[in-house]
Amino acid sequence: MNIHEYQGKEILKAYGVSVPRGRVAFSVEEAVRAAEELGGRAVVKAQIHAGGRGKAGGVKVAKSLEQVREYAGQLLGSTLVTHQTGPEGKVVNRLLIEELTDIQKEYYIGLVVDRGSGRVVMMASEEGGTEIEEVAAKTPEKIVKEMIDPAVGLLPFQARKLAYAIHIPKPLVDKAVQFMSGLYRAFVDKDCSVAEINPLVVTGDGNVLALDAKLNFDANGLFRHTELLELRDPNEEDPREQQAAKFGLSYIALDGNIGCMVNGAGLAMATMDIIKYYGGEPANFLDVGGGASTEKVSEAFKIILQDDKVKGILVNIFGGIMKCDVIANGVVEAARQLGLDRPLVVRLEGTNVDLGKKILAESGLKIVPADSMADAAEKIVSLVQ
Ligand code: ADP
Ligand code: MG
Repeated sequence: MNIHEYQGKEILKAYGVSVPRGRVAFSVEEAVRAAEELGGRAVVKAQIHAGGRGKAGGVKVAKSLEQVREYAGQLLGSTLVTHQTGPEGKVVNRLLIEELTDIQKEYYIGLVVDRGSGRVVMMASEEGGTEIEEVAAKTPEKIVKEMIDPAVGLLPFQARKLAYAIHIPKPLVDKAVQFMSGLYRAFVDKDCSVAEINPLVVTGDGNVLALDAKLNFDANGLFRHTELLELRDPNEEDPREQQAAKFGLSYIALDGNIGCMVNGAGLAMATMDIIKYYGGEPANFLDVGGGASTEKVSEAFKIILQDDKVKGILVNIFGGIMKCDVIANGVVEAARQLGLDRPLVVRLEGTNVDLGKKILAESGLKIVPADSMADAAEKIVSLVQ
């Protein structure tokens, strides 16, 4: 789960990580009032779940309240297209009105879970403010890393090593160490999957601040953090993914045109692979889970049918715990309610397979049965072409 920059900064502040003064604004009036508290001059920052806002015109320095009013009016309600939003962009509904910081130099600090070592890794670079992916590609030697032992956490010597390696001015190394240790504690406490401060800055008056903050949380840890769930911004989330979450379905929207309904994450991925193998493109990943009810299956099918991009549907079920007749009933129910106007290929195997096939055959719906995964994929790919 993703949150906004201003929310990330609130969390970090509680862990002793310094951030500029600032306040969220949902309207032009709120923006002007927030800027007044800061003394008139302020940075107006679009709050969307994507980076690259600076380059796209989503971060504006206002020298007066008049300019705050002007920039807030321009940004609120506008669609910002950055290299992270995709071509459709994201609508700006909130602004962060922030103190104008006197930047001496920009750095990068990031925390990720490194799958290779199974540990949290802190990365640092003196090339802050730019895209870290670009630094990694062109000058990888400019990124330094420390692996963190979970038993003892980030040790002060590790943080100092990083601070020296990226050339934080000597008098500020202690502040940088404090910053990194606070960031690490926040990362672990909140079950983050990513924490990225780009840029971390040293200021003219000798401070070390997080000028940007990107926190991502591991969805599997969210049950331990009800306080984080309140930070969810529905405007930033795919409505189909929200609908799916309500019914406990694992659904991820993709770019292709073949809707998939599968049980089990492994089978779902294999199904997407085989669709690609036969030259098609999956429109989604959808795992209905092990013990899905007819209602759940029917909701899953509706989510797929409501997607205009979907030109055909592939249902691929292995009935282990899941029974094939339950799937068949769910599909028939949803197709009756919404009307089945696109080709549907169904491959069923396992528990109650004959009953499932019978339900589908007697439904009167135009369903193309398939005998194997390969057969099913080949059929749906040729039907959507
Ligand atoms: P993004 O990563 O989405 O482009 P950032 O928050 O990193 O957005 O802002 C982009 C750039 O704008 C920063 O690298 C910094 O140079 C400048 N900036 C951001 N916030 C402030 C601020 N409070 N004061 C001064 N400059 C800022
Ligand atoms: Mg940034």
